[in-house]
Amino acid sequence: MEHRLDEVRTEVLRRNPGEPEFHQAVTEVFASLAPVVAEHPHYLEAGVIERICEPERQIIFRVPWTDDAGRVRINRGFRVQFNSALGPYKGGLRFHPAVSLGTVKFLGFEQIFKNALTGMPLGGAKGGSDFDPKGRSDAEVMRFCQSFMTEAHRYIGEHTDVPAGDIGVGRREIGYLFGQYTRIVDRHESGAITGKGLSWGGSLVRNEATGYGLVYFVRRMLERHGRDLDGARVLVSGSGNVAIAAAERVASLGAIVVGMSDSTGALATPDGIDITRVRELKEERRTTLTGYDVPGARFVSGATAWELARELRVDVALPCATQNELDADAARLLVTAGTTVVAEGANMPCTPEAVRLLREAGVLFAPGKAANAGGVATSALEMQQNASRDSWSFEHTDSRLAEIMDDIHDRCLETSIAYGAAGDYALGANIAGFTRVADAMLALGVI
Ligand code: NDP
Repeated sequence: MEHRLDEVRTEVLRRNPGEPEFHQAVTEVFASLAPVVAEHPHYLEAGVIERICEPERQIIFRVPWTDDAGRVRINRGFRVQFNSALGPYKGGLRFHPAVSLGTVKFLGFEQIFKNALTGMPLGGAKGGSDFDPKGRSDAEVMRFCQSFMTEAHRYIGEHTDVPAGDIGVGRREIGYLFGQYTRIVDRHESGAITGKGLSWGGSLVRNEATGYGLVYFVRRMLERHGRDLDGARVLVSGSGNVAIAAAERVASLGAIVVGMSDSTGALATPDGIDITRVRELKEERRTTLTGYDVPGARFVSGATAWELARELRVDVALPCATQNELDADAARLLVTAGTTVVAEGANMPCTPEAVRLLREAGVLFAPGKAANAGGVATSALEMQQNASRDSWSFEHTDSRLAEIMDDIHDRCLETSIAYGAAGDYALGANIAGFTRVADAMLALGVI
């Protein structure tokens, strides 16, 4: 069976050349499937594994727009609708110059299993563009978003495909995208997009959900080991939506955030972070962390967060920036710095080699598809509120999020135990996510 599984994987990689991130995500999931197919060979026999690796639909389109100088610009738009066995396609949009079809496919593939783990009726998708919002005026971002949605609206909808934010797509971009969608379809379909502003159909906690959810997952993980976050020294990479919310929530539980980073360098804050100042720099002024001028802090231009680990002494590391940002060298630095927990806020931030090293060193490792599922879970809560024309309080939504993250944690742990690999959360997440989707696909015929 293992041999047949490997043949399937080789064939998937052959059919998708030049997409290393997609290959990495597929290989990582396949690495967990051997015990499942040994026990349930029908998944292989029915071809469900091949089918899961093939997107249902891949859309690539031209996005023309005009900059402030009147020059015509062209970007490429993507939406990969990967799997709808469990519900309408659901997954964010990323605007970043490095976005390619392979990036979107890796993110869409991860999203299938992540959405399945939430226990909610959500299929998996992802989209985006190689557009770089950095340095662009609001008017330019608006014109780009309007052009993107002029094409994308054909494929999205409350019962079809529901996008949200990701890197480079925050509330501003969601507003422009939703505004254009509403104009084109000529009806107020609030469930067609999530991450909306509070006064136009959004949910409390959605903005914070991925970072808060990550912290709830880690809290549950530590609880199971008789520990808590009080006094823990936490290093967070990135300083975007996920990183800021994670830093804020972990600090509110008594931890000390000893550092953060952005794409220009890393900030050491040995006495704890002033998150209000970070929000001001990154969310209001849209600038770098260089301007963080709180006494006792030090910004190291060009450094990664992990390079500061040894001097800062780190118990918990939360990579919340981007894929493959934490490599083998970084993993070694964290182990030397005394780190005992690494939980992924970003999608696939740890390289396979880093994960292997962390495991060998006995570090508890929480994979992104489980630990960062709070964002999409709260998107589903936003859709529930939209459908019932209701809006829930912060406390109620936050406590639903915490329950969902506890459930995801427990599902991963129990699955890892059932398959003889207690505490291997990556294996537990992959198997629990896979079996839910695969069973639905089998029930639906050859789809
Ligand atoms: P943002 O655009 O809000 O923030 C990204 C942050 O990462 C920024 O601070 C950015 O720096 C930094 N960054 C990007 N590339 C690098 C790099 N190579 N080295 C160091 N720092 C870098 O994105 P999000 O917070 O929304 O997303 C972060 C991650 O979380 C992504 O992997 C995303 O897929 C994942 N995720 C997001 C969810 C969400 O709800 N938003 C849900 C689930 C997962 P700078 O500020 O300089 O640009």
